[in-house]
Amino acid sequence: MTKPKIATDWLAGCSGCHMSLLDIDERIVQLAELADIRATPVTDLKEPDESGVDVGILEGAVNLTTNEEVAHRMRRRCKILVALGDCAVFGGVLTMRNFHKLEDALRRAYVEAESVDGDGKIPSSPELGRPTRVRALDEVVDVDVYIPGCPPDPDVIFYALSELLQGRIPELKDEKLHWH
Ligand code: SF4
Repeated sequence: MTKPKIATDWLAGCSGCHMSLLDIDERIVQLAELADIRATPVTDLKEPDESGVDVGILEGAVNLTTNEEVAHRMRRRCKILVALGDCAVFGGVLTMRNFHKLEDALRRAYVEAESVDGDGKIPSSPELGRPTRVRALDEVVDVDVYIPGCPPDPDVIFYALSELLQGRIPELKDEKLHWH
């Protein structure tokens, strides 16, 4: 029997949600038995192939036009899309940027911040895409499953993925629903 395929990718975030995914520790072996892990940003294959996957997982908010492209590509290539972590679920900490003018936020981060060495420049490479208002994932594409938390608890991630890989939509409530 062919195993369901999984792919993950990230948008605007800190990669903490992927670190939490890796924190399921040895249970990753159980996941690998249940699923064919096709692509993740932390492995050599970075994006799902065009033939698609059963479960797509996205971390991070949508903050750039390039994030929009990644979100649409994953949506096109997966049957069930999971928003992993508060940034993907509702925008998270990144949405604080929406309360400021974009130019002010970029200048503060890249030119004025105490950690800048005095020669700060606002990045402008076309490869980065254009900044947009910060949005939750479901403001850009349809989302099927939400796993909140900053980062989500590894036990909850494992539960949700195990359910999905056995053909069930996970029910996150009570002790499995963490907002922190
Ligand atoms: S939800 Fe938290 S851990 Fe995940 S990407 Fe956002 S800031 Fe990082």
